[in-house]
Amino acid sequence: MNKDRFRKLLLQQRQEILEVLESGKSAAGTVKLDQTSVGRLSRMDALQSQAMLQEATRRREQSLRGINESLRKIESGDYGFCEQCGEEIAEKRLQFNPAVLYCIDCSSKLEQG
Ligand SMILES: [Zn+2]
Repeated sequence: MNKDRFRKLLLQQRQEILEVLESGKSAAGTVKLDQTSVGRLSRMDALQSQAMLQEATRRREQSLRGINESLRKIESGDYGFCEQCGEEIAEKRLQFNPAVLYCIDCSSKLEQG
């Protein structure tokens, strides 16, 4: 497995997310400021888009945690192993999402609850 390649991908993804999170913060600030000056209907729109923004931010922060954890594992040599069962994660799966922490079996089990 080419860990340098995955590290590069992860750093790239982290950079992208951090940039989006930064721009999201300023957008959320704008919504807040506008609330005093806009009518009721557009304020509801603003609140709705703020809620959507918060949800998107929450998801990005979640993937950021996965990325940071994966980067940490690359350094410690644990990268590519499932956090649940310790089995090797298929390289194809890592190529699709380098920040994935579980193998396909555990991931589907965890999703089912
Ligand atoms: Zn597993």
